[in-house]
Amino acid sequence: MFITFEGIDGSGKSTQARLLAEALGAAGHSVVRTREPGGSPGAEEIRALVLQGDPERWSAETEILLFTAARRDHLERTITPALAAGNVVVCDRFADSTRMYQGLSRGDLRAQVDALHRLMIGREPDLTFLIDIDPAVGLSRAKGRQGHEERFEDMGLGMQTQMRAGFLALAKEFAPRFRVIDGARPAEVVAAEVRALATAALEA
Ligand code: C5P
Repeated sequence: MFITFEGIDGSGKSTQARLLAEALGAAGHSVVRTREPGGSPGAEEIRALVLQGDPERWSAETEILLFTAARRDHLERTITPALAAGNVVVCDRFADSTRMYQGLSRGDLRAQVDALHRLMIGREPDLTFLIDIDPAVGLSRAKGRQGHEERFEDMGLGMQTQMRAGFLALAKEFAPRFRVIDGARPAEVVAAEVRALATAALEA
């Protein structure tokens, strides 16, 4: 089963991905935890190309191509082999992040994102947890982090608010695979709900 976590910066999704992977491992599942952008050696190189250095280096369209290239490599080298070997794959961000960030943040490029996804990726997760959080809370959490690579904090609350609304709309668009989780609660409370929902899906 392919499980992804989505949410705005500072939502706590990376913590939740880690806690779910640990819990499923402790329950006897073989689990591969991975992340985007990145998740394979080539895709991690592309991550560095996009997230480090001059944010204006790539046009919005080139950035869609880079993220899609990274995802293709991640799928080929990490996700598909792990699923074929019977693992549960827990991934921090996937194509929904590109639908939001590359599709929304620099104009409406969703059609281009979708076209490339159909052509080059063609895979959706089986289950997606959207960790939903007030953007002001997300922003203050993201700012307090050491060694972070957040790109949008300087764009402020307006951007985060747009992204949150976009993610919630996406959850409706792809309703059957999404679970929207209230991320404002303590991490262990959120983790317990996520674990219960993932366990139910694995046993279904
Ligand atoms: O999730 P993580 O913190 O690793 O993401 C790093 C940065 O890259 C974040 O600021 C995130 O918003 C951004 N990002 C992006 N496009 C994606 C995925 C992440 O701009 N498709």
